[in-house]
Amino acid sequence: MPAAALLPRSGCISLVLYTAFPNSAPDLSSSQEVTRGAEAIRKWGWRVGNENERRLDLCLCTELCRVRLEFLSLGLESVAAVACSGDLDCLWTKMSRLVQARRLEGVDKNIWVEFVKLAATYPNVNLGQGFPDFPPPDFVKEAFMKAVGGENIMLHQYTRAFGHPALVTNLARFFGKLLGQELDPMTNVLVTVGAYEALFCCFQALVDEGDEVIIIEPFFDCYEPMVKMAGGTPVFIQLRSKAEEAGKLMSSGDWQLDPAELASKFTKQTKAIVLNSPNNPLGKVFTREEMELIADLCVKHDVLCFSDEVYEWMVYDGKEHIRIASLPGMWDRTITIGSAGKTFSTTGWKVGWTLGPDRLLKHLRTVHQNSVYHCPTAAQEAVAQAFQREFDNYGKQDSYFVQLAQELQQKRDWLVRSLVAGGMKPIVPEGTYFLMADFSEFKSEVPDLPDSDEPYDSRFIKWMIINKGLAAIPVSAFYSTPHKRNFDHLIRFCFVKEEATLKAAEDILQQWSLEKTGQ
Ligand code: PMP
Repeated sequence: MPAAALLPRSGCISLVLYTAFPNSAPDLSSSQEVTRGAEAIRKWGWRVGNENERRLDLCLCTELCRVRLEFLSLGLESVAAVACSGDLDCLWTKMSRLVQARRLEGVDKNIWVEFVKLAATYPNVNLGQGFPDFPPPDFVKEAFMKAVGGENIMLHQYTRAFGHPALVTNLARFFGKLLGQELDPMTNVLVTVGAYEALFCCFQALVDEGDEVIIIEPFFDCYEPMVKMAGGTPVFIQLRSKAEEAGKLMSSGDWQLDPAELASKFTKQTKAIVLNSPNNPLGKVFTREEMELIADLCVKHDVLCFSDEVYEWMVYDGKEHIRIASLPGMWDRTITIGSAGKTFSTTGWKVGWTLGPDRLLKHLRTVHQNSVYHCPTAAQEAVAQAFQREFDNYGKQDSYFVQLAQELQQKRDWLVRSLVAGGMKPIVPEGTYFLMADFSEFKSEVPDLPDSDEPYDSRFIKWMIINKGLAAIPVSAFYSTPHKRNFDHLIRFCFVKEEATLKAAEDILQQWSLEKTGQ
């Protein structure tokens, strides 16, 4: 870390450096290491104060842990410090050994941890986190029960580390057909702990220190920290919405990439672009033209594409899900990511996969074998059987994928109607089981605090959970820090919920609307 990075935003503190011995009081006596610490500090351009007392005034230095890291990198293992402000009594912050790895800096916050806890704490109608509150289809449940209760006792034991043979075989057969590729189950498919691990493997295996990764906003929030943990730099580009037409609801299709702006994001440092279609949280289904634009830029700049397609079966209004790996020049540079959690309404099973050329997947296998190593066997067997059934029913009315999309489209329309009647402005999604809604009309309910660190939508939802018993997720969580504030008038609702839940949400919105209009 360059010394400049240690410069603080504001303020002034002092540090007392001392040699740290376990279980002993700070030793302020002369020590070679303390002297070297002082030298280092002087070299960084900070003022060193009363050196006789070993007290070093580090003007404008607030980040003690970072100073400690610098010391460690200089081999000054035993120099510890006590921070003081002005007089020696206050601010006793002890610089003990830093436990956190550098790669964790700035990635510790996670929206789901906070909002899932909140939704569990207060009684509410939960349209927040994305999971069905209805059971998976019978054939999926039965496949799992057969896997754990059947005669094949080996289904309780380890299976192949890179994917249970029955599952990789069925995935290769199923998706090979859709991608127009002959897939080798052993080399072109990797089973992961949900799509989450698949994403993690992509970034860890293929993104290096200094690489840039293009992320399209709004984005599934884990992309940014995962890029950073791999040492890469996220480069953001926004989907820009068309102007609203009076009296007409916006559609997720009204949010588009500007082709020139997108082209400008591709540089010599660009290693990959993350594509998520259908997109969470907006519900946008990228058109063939939009996909071709992205594909052409990937080919031109020799860039990889991580294509997160977990909502591939949730596409409405006759829209088509395009698989970017099937476009010319893209198979060789694309990793396609899928999730049985989304596909078969079994988010708790955490079975996911990646599909791609061996030249890329072999590196993902290296990450997988050195981290997770192995995914639960019975769940993989059940997903394998479920795919077998869907293969046989592909495109037919009996197919779960066909039925699920039809049911979800009705649920979407129901929630859209409820929100409109309640006074919010939903953006009608073409895909996924989420929608974003503008709640600007409700701003009088919760006062804005422009100086607060917390975006308005986040504070609004907390208030809504506690006071109205309705849970959602703030859309600002799906934007990078500089852009969060521009989108904090939007919240995300999830509609993969049973009728009773959607009805309860409708009632809350209706009652709220009546209260607002004073009726
Ligand atoms: N990608 C996207 C876009 C998602 O929305 C999610 C889950 N919310 C995942 C990946 C992770 O999926 P899984 O539960 O299979 O890990």
